[in-house]
Amino acid sequence: MTHVFHRRSNTMLAKAVRGEGIWLIDENGRRYIDAGGGGAGMTAIGHGDPRVAEAIARQARSLAFIHGALFTTDPLEELADEMARNAPDSLGRIFFTSGGSEANEAAIMMAKQVAYETGQGARHKIISRRNAFHGATIGLLGFSGDVPRQRPFASLIGGSIKVTPTYAYREQSATESDEEYGERIADELDIAIRAAGPDTVLAFIAETIGGSSSGALTAPPGYFRRVRDICDHHGVALILDEVYCGLGRSGTAHACLAENIVPDYLVAAKGLAAGFAPIGAVMTSERVNDIIAKGSGAFRGGFTHSGHTLSCAAALAVQRIVREDDLIANVARQGALLGELLVERFGNHRHVGEVRGRGLLQSIELVADRASKAPFEPQQRLAAAIAREAAAVGLIVNAASGTIDGVRGDHVLLAPPFIVGRDDVIAIADRLGHAVDRAIASIAP
Ligand code: PLP
Repeated sequence: MTHVFHRRSNTMLAKAVRGEGIWLIDENGRRYIDAGGGGAGMTAIGHGDPRVAEAIARQARSLAFIHGALFTTDPLEELADEMARNAPDSLGRIFFTSGGSEANEAAIMMAKQVAYETGQGARHKIISRRNAFHGATIGLLGFSGDVPRQRPFASLIGGSIKVTPTYAYREQSATESDEEYGERIADELDIAIRAAGPDTVLAFIAETIGGSSSGALTAPPGYFRRVRDICDHHGVALILDEVYCGLGRSGTAHACLAENIVPDYLVAAKGLAAGFAPIGAVMTSERVNDIIAKGSGAFRGGFTHSGHTLSCAAALAVQRIVREDDLIANVARQGALLGELLVERFGNHRHVGEVRGRGLLQSIELVADRASKAPFEPQQRLAAAIAREAAAVGLIVNAASGTIDGVRGDHVLLAPPFIVGRDDVIAIADRLGHAVDRAIASIAP
């Protein structure tokens, strides 16, 4: 009997008791390689780093919390300074939240408040991409494409104008170059803004690299450059959701650095305190800060936990470790190896349609038939079978369904800690190979 209102009430969950580096250990002493980053791309520096534990304990003894509208604190100021060191050009003003959903909400609210305070109050429409995931609030569910999550709340959620995601495997035509494909889907944004009425569009929100809902979808060359130009042309704010792919996970300090663009709002979360404490962030410019500072003087999207002192201390310790241990260089190195090994293992697999990703955010998309790219039927529950078989061989992965349209399609997303070594990466690819084969055998009619 449990008193917990569990997220999954129809499954008996095993109990996790400890984490050590890349390893997760359950109540029976079973050890799993945590290639899912805590099941959600969180554990960027691995489990149990004593330096973070010590920083949290020190801060808890000194001051755990004070409301951000009353005081500033050293952990808050120093964390913002630390993040500003690597901030893409001009994004040196940082607002903190307790997670990714709140951070996306805050970015949208900032964009709206800036429009409101600059005489552009008619701007209110949001454009997003079809199979995105931006968060689980009533507001954000409408901007996402996670159909099962949306269904019970359909009458409450608002929604956004949806455009095509970057999904070359299924949507690039055989006669198109990568650049032409990128141009075509970026131009859909321009068409959507014009159709909606440019003066009524507030923001375009997109994951720089797709996360849990789509499985590491990367953009074709030139796509984001063109998106940036289109947003500038129409005065539409560009919000890049790097909750999953940001803060080093894709091999650069921020995923947008590899695209050579700077958004108006850059949203980060999972890797920030890397699971040691709940925290998210919106990085924006001096200009945005100034508009509000010289206008109403108060951002209306604050939360009680914004800039939580203890969470900031945890995130500061984590971000210093990422920098001082040069972990992003390891992400680039081990990510390249992981990509190669997945191609080696699954490149000719009859049930893997594509291997994709960047850095330590890598994915395989499963198909029933390679030639037609037909997915498995949703009722076969392949993703769940892969997660189960992976656990059986001592591997935690993020396996999900709904890859194609929120309902059909299955993928496995790998997001191991930045500290993985060569042998760990070899073990991950090897164990995943066994898990996929066993899972497919288990669901075969
Ligand atoms: N945005 C992306 C891309 C995500 O992957 C997630 C969570 O998985 C979120 C937003 C929501 O973040 P959170 O669950 O911390 O609220």
